[in-house]
Amino acid sequence: MCLDLQSISDNGASVNPMTGAGQGQQLGNQWMKKICIINTGGTIGMSAGPDGLRPEPGFIAEQLALMPELNNPSMPQITVQEYEPVIDSSNIQVADWRQLAGDIAGQYEQFDGFVVLHGTDTMAYTASALPFMLRGLGKPVILTGSQLPLADVRNDARENLKTALLLAAGYTIPEVCIYFGELLLRGCRATKHSAASFNAFSSPNYPPLGSAGTELEVFQDRVLPVPPLEQGLSVESLQPQEIATFRLFPGVSVEVLQNVLQRPLKALILESFGDGNGPSRHQGFVECIRDACQAGIVILNLSQCGHGSIRQTAYETGAALEKAGVVSGCDMTIEAALAKLTYLFSRDLSVEQVKTELQRDLVGELTGTVA
Ligand code: ASP
Repeated sequence: MCLDLQSISDNGASVNPMTGAGQGQQLGNQWMKKICIINTGGTIGMSAGPDGLRPEPGFIAEQLALMPELNNPSMPQITVQEYEPVIDSSNIQVADWRQLAGDIAGQYEQFDGFVVLHGTDTMAYTASALPFMLRGLGKPVILTGSQLPLADVRNDARENLKTALLLAAGYTIPEVCIYFGELLLRGCRATKHSAASFNAFSSPNYPPLGSAGTELEVFQDRVLPVPPLEQGLSVESLQPQEIATFRLFPGVSVEVLQNVLQRPLKALILESFGDGNGPSRHQGFVECIRDACQAGIVILNLSQCGHGSIRQTAYETGAALEKAGVVSGCDMTIEAALAKLTYLFSRDLSVEQVKTELQRDLVGELTGTVA
């Protein structure tokens, strides 16, 4: 359930007056812009409980009311909506993605952009799924959160939130992004690479869409084009799918792999070595892969390296996988590949169609031509 907790401009806690401190700043006047903050949970709004950090309902709105910077005219008008319950993002489900996409689409005309507060643990998964769901998006949808809660003395939450708001209000960014630790990243290219650093996210195979050092910059040539107005926003629904990932390592058990490659499994992401190589001399390995492909299980090759693209024919050890029927995942992140598989299997496609679509760029998730 989406609880429209409060418009913080309604209760007077934080409005954007035409007057106020900081008018001389170089940031443009954005107080006419309307941004919806949707709080799903995450560390940003957590406090300490007996068993560790836990999300606290109402905490975000309370804390925002204590931030005088939000009164600066460079800030947009904000409405805060909070999900009930607010969750640790480790608990996020496909149904939550459906709700989020539906809530954005349902209020799309009322706002100039959306800032989604989300836990960092699965932020890249949600940021990868939303682009497949929000088709024809012409406004910014920026996910952010923090490594430390908003109320901590030292925290990254304030800067992440304020900059996400400025970006959503002041720039043409018609796509789903993550803003975190000074970087604006394409959502379906991003991955969480650090559990400890304030710079927790990167997009290893696509350059940042923007950066926020002393200058706030958006590199428009890296941002997706604005879709034609007549296209409008439509929502594609996703359903959970029987898919899995499997990481290769020296000594991997073919028997275990065989057990994984059983129905109801529909697709397996094979986390391979380097350019997309596997232990092709390992007794039974290639046969096991080939049998699964012939049985209609989609096996998608992604490198454990993260940075770089799959080149299945660079080495014999990769060519063996290609010949067995494994599909190249190009330079997708694991998060994007999981979201894409979920999206494709939620459509009424044949296995061959799924394999073809996996290698086409649908929403900016892989290097190629956007379909
Ligand atoms: N466990 C938290 C979450 O993902 C971590 C965070 O937000 O940084 O909700």
